[in-house]
Amino acid sequence: MKIPPRPKVILRHCDTYDPGKIRVIVREAMEELGLSPRGRALIKPNCVASKPQFPHAYTRPELLEGVIMALRDRVVEPLEELAVGERCGITVPTRFAFEGADYYPMFKRTGVKHYHFEEVPQVEIPLSHEGRLRDFLFTPEPVAKADFFVNCPKFKSHPWTTVTFSMKNYIGIQDDRHRLIDHDHRLDEKIADLQYIIQPELIVIDAIEAGEGRMLTPKPRHLGLVIIGNCQLAIDAVGCRIIGIDPLSVDHLRLAHERGFGPVDLGSIEVSGDVSLEEAQRRAAGFEVGLIRVEKYFEGTHITAYAGPPPEPERTDYCWGGCPGAIEEAIEILRQFDADCDAKMPRLHVVFGAYEGPIDAAPNERVVFIGDCARWQGEIAGKPIAIESLYKHRRTKNPYSAKHDDVYEKMISVTAKFAEAARSKAPVRLTGCPVSVAEQVLALVAVSDIKNPITDPVNAIKFNKHYLAWRGATALQRLKGQPYQVAGACSRGGAAPEVTAPAPSAEE
Ligand code: SF4
Repeated sequence: MKIPPRPKVILRHCDTYDPGKIRVIVREAMEELGLSPRGRALIKPNCVASKPQFPHAYTRPELLEGVIMALRDRVVEPLEELAVGERCGITVPTRFAFEGADYYPMFKRTGVKHYHFEEVPQVEIPLSHEGRLRDFLFTPEPVAKADFFVNCPKFKSHPWTTVTFSMKNYIGIQDDRHRLIDHDHRLDEKIADLQYIIQPELIVIDAIEAGEGRMLTPKPRHLGLVIIGNCQLAIDAVGCRIIGIDPLSVDHLRLAHERGFGPVDLGSIEVSGDVSLEEAQRRAAGFEVGLIRVEKYFEGTHITAYAGPPPEPERTDYCWGGCPGAIEEAIEILRQFDADCDAKMPRLHVVFGAYEGPIDAAPNERVVFIGDCARWQGEIAGKPIAIESLYKHRRTKNPYSAKHDDVYEKMISVTAKFAEAARSKAPVRLTGCPVSVAEQVLALVAVSDIKNPITDPVNAIKFNKHYLAWRGATALQRLKGQPYQVAGACSRGGAAPEVTAPAPSAEE
């Protein structure tokens, strides 16, 4: 896993999603970086969610098409494979996200192979670095086998990790079973650990229309940039500088820097291209990042949020990577889907972590405790209530036996829980660590008359078609044999980053 001693980040002006123009930009950048694809070349976009509800959340197909053509332009030896692979937001079939993103016609036009990462075998990657959350991770086989990995994220804010550029895009190189593990208050550490699986040799960020403020439902922000580089920590650091934040304030970048994945200071990164850093900063002036605590986020709405610390309060007093951020994304989804969402929401109280203060709920108002670590004791509307923590330490979570959340099973269980709570007038407890965005969408639908995005006729036919295809593909997988491979099956992953020469940091 080689890290260039003095990484390059190239800022190029690109006003529109013109694949021909993007092809030239990326080809020229590859020439400057001295890169040619080889063997199995794999492109990883960010397609967490797509149209019609999430038009600004994903790497646009025109950008991928430009990258594919540029890679072909730079081929020296025939490639074994050229493919695009992704796992979109959990519980949703990647096929559904790919269709909404108009990826399939692009795959056909360019003749590339594509992978839905939740439908392929998962390979175990051993880890041995200090400070790791666990001793091995699983990743889809095409990632583990890639010889030339290309990361093509979208330039966006993120409510859990401040930004989602290149390194954060790795959350999509795990299927649901493994992605949910450690997706909690130590999410940044998980992202830093994922870096040991593979490092891209080429990164192309879609910053033509960037996403501001949020991750699934960002406000579009025209930056007119394609950002290209050969070190993803360096490119993310420059991305942070563009929006005016210190890269070391983003925990997964800080950790990756401390672990040798590259420099973050501008003195150690060569920035070139036809757009100066100052011009990029001018275009991004006032760029909104989405880091906002849940109590503040819901101020002025019908929802009152209460958040106490997650387990390991000595590390943090707030779970940035889990349930509280998920409910912010959930309500944003519903707002996109139903213009009357806020008006339709009845008074609701949501409680996270080990919260210790009062809960000011009237007798007819719902109270929902969200997440395994929720813990509370007191009176609600004159009745004594005791909620025990169900949190299980991460050491007890075995990636081999991890299960994914099935959206239909969740729909049934969430509906039943709320129906029972309505009868008994008791608070509702949603379990999980984390409770996913999808499950929190279902919960908010269950307490209100807001339209359910999953059962709404606009989405339901396509969603079910892709859901059945996904389930069919994984059933076939099981019939063929084990969905996992054994430890050591991948010889490349898990290695420590190796910088060919020291890359001193001016900030140290
Ligand atoms: S249960 Fe939710 S809030 Fe608690 S640690 Fe897990 S992800 Fe965080």
